[in-house]
Amino acid sequence: MDTVINAEKISQFDAMIGGAERVVIIGHYNPDGDCVGSVSALSSYLDGRSVGNVVVLPGPYPQFLSFLDSGHRIKAFSIKDASTGGQTVSADAEQAVKDADLMICLDHNTPGRTEGMEPLLREAPCSKVLIDHHPNPESSFYDLVFSDTEMSSASELLFWILMEMPDISSDIRRMELPTALSLCAGMLSDTNNFNNSVTPSTFRMSSLLMDRGVDFTLLNDLIFGRCSQDRMKLMGYMLSNMTIDPETASACMILTRKIQRKYNFVSGDSEGFVNLGLKIKGVEVSALFTEEADRVRVSLRSKGGIRVNRLSETFFHGGGHDKASGGKLTIPVTEVRDYYLSALRQFICDEGITFADASRPSGQ
Ligand code: 5GP
Ligand code: MN
Repeated sequence: MDTVINAEKISQFDAMIGGAERVVIIGHYNPDGDCVGSVSALSSYLDGRSVGNVVVLPGPYPQFLSFLDSGHRIKAFSIKDASTGGQTVSADAEQAVKDADLMICLDHNTPGRTEGMEPLLREAPCSKVLIDHHPNPESSFYDLVFSDTEMSSASELLFWILMEMPDISSDIRRMELPTALSLCAGMLSDTNNFNNSVTPSTFRMSSLLMDRGVDFTLLNDLIFGRCSQDRMKLMGYMLSNMTIDPETASACMILTRKIQRKYNFVSGDSEGFVNLGLKIKGVEVSALFTEEADRVRVSLRSKGGIRVNRLSETFFHGGGHDKASGGKLTIPVTEVRDYYLSALRQFICDEGITFADASRPSGQ
């Protein structure tokens, strides 16, 4: 065992779970596959130990991840009110947080990533555990921290933690199949089907999960292979309208509300679009901007020297990983492209980043 997962921390975690009656499991704003996979895996593990638990996410998860919540047990804290268009807080979800005697937070590094839930989490008197793979966790907020940026996903980190728990004791056969499936789904989502952030440990986990009976072909289909026709057409539109800037070796896609309406956009439909820019030779940083009611959501990916978490912290009110980050803007969507390009130019200059000329995209 390494220092992130050591015997002392495992026995502390095991004792916290053993002593709890009402656990609340928390994920992040805009939940993705790793978030939903890791929270549902932990919930099914706690079910197996007969420990009462509730999962609360800041908002609804995309419909395509519903196979991870077949019992419809995941609660959204804030939901859109169809009549007013505003947000309504779920009293149930709020009460679950207030009643909890243990809080376990997954796939985010600070309560700030839960947006509107942040004050409630900060006021909660219960013990708190963090299981996450983002840099710079707000460790002082939690009583026990498992944080490892080397992990492909929070789901992979949770997998290795659960493997060390006394009831599993490194015997994969003792892991319940729903737990194994959810962990695998989370890892496959965050690595984009083994395309990024994988390490030997990710493959060891995969091998054990396959031994346990996880059907990778089925999961791959559930996560990546059940797109609506509207989503595929939207992808075509976005690719056709993507712009490339050779000077900054960057790609840019902007998904306006008008285009969302045209293609009957639902949450999850733009999943993976931001990665497409990086497929172009010479492109080192790719951005997707999505117009929302009160903000423009920012998604950034890099495959070169540009650390997009720093770019996001400096210019986009966000953060994340070196090669995958996000944030938000509150400027008109029509100004986003110019803002992005000037932010990039300044960042590249300030950080002294250079590109190999031979690999520059042509801009055509
Ligand atoms: P995505 O582009 O898939 O929404 O997010 C990519 C990564 O950036 C994820 O690891 C996510 O946790 C992180 N991220 C996304 N939005 C934000 C944000 O607003 N703030 C911070 N700190 N991280 C974000
Ligand atoms: Mn993650």
